[in-house]
Amino acid sequence: MTGNRDDFSQSVKTVLAGRAGWKCSFPQCNRSTAGPAVESHDKWIKNGVAAHITAAAPGGPRYDASISPDQRSDISNAIWMCPTHGSLIDKEQAAYTVEEIKSWKIEAESRAARELERSSATHPSQATSPYSSKDIATLASYSGVMSYQVIELIRGERFGSFVRHDVTNPLYQILEMKGNPRYKFQNSALEKLRQNLASEVEAFFTHFGQQSAGLPSGYEYINVSEFSRNDPESRSYWEEQIYETQRLAQGLCSTAMRLLEIKENN
Ligand SMILES: [Zn+2]
Repeated sequence: MTGNRDDFSQSVKTVLAGRAGWKCSFPQCNRSTAGPAVESHDKWIKNGVAAHITAAAPGGPRYDASISPDQRSDISNAIWMCPTHGSLIDKEQAAYTVEEIKSWKIEAESRAARELERSSATHPSQATSPYSSKDIATLASYSGVMSYQVIELIRGERFGSFVRHDVTNPLYQILEMKGNPRYKFQNSALEKLRQNLASEVEAFFTHFGQQSAGLPSGYEYINVSEFSRNDPESRSYWEEQIYETQRLAQGLCSTAMRLLEIKENN
């Protein structure tokens, strides 16, 4: 029936399609050639074609008389295409050279390899995370409060004269979360970090609260230039108080960063 055509076997076609990720190998096409059959939940359809790089029979596109029938039906002479491009490369014989088509195949297979690597790098890492899904969700809650942005803000705060609520509000939230069993971690190392963060925030407020007075938009805090005007002797004392506030803030930020980093990696 196939006469003198050197066609590809079914297994060659399947391996070829799989190596291209079941997508057309024509440059930029990327069309999928496999999917579910609409009429049945347990069937699939494929509409791609294993096109010959050099033709299967004399007179065909790019026919090469110098190679053997085995070489002609070998996978190295095949390229996976959608129906449109499969027929295009057969019709437009003069437009595409053997070398050109072979380069498409190399590109299509390396693209499929990259996509495969990317999907295995992003998905299974979640499945192999050492933390439970509840802990992952709790990590997300903590990262929502102590985000990179908030940490940056607190780290950059000088604690001189006026401190905005933007800096203190997230810290109050951390204290509320400490007493709420919903936010307890199952993993003991994470729970220890959470306790440390809450203790550091408490120590911060104990110190901060001694010198701060509430204002509608924030806190009135240590204003060194004013203190040194009124009482130059006390300047170094107040500078020391500010330094201690900054030290406590940096410490709690480091702990919050660790929770954030764990969340990023899981
Ligand atoms: Zn195509």
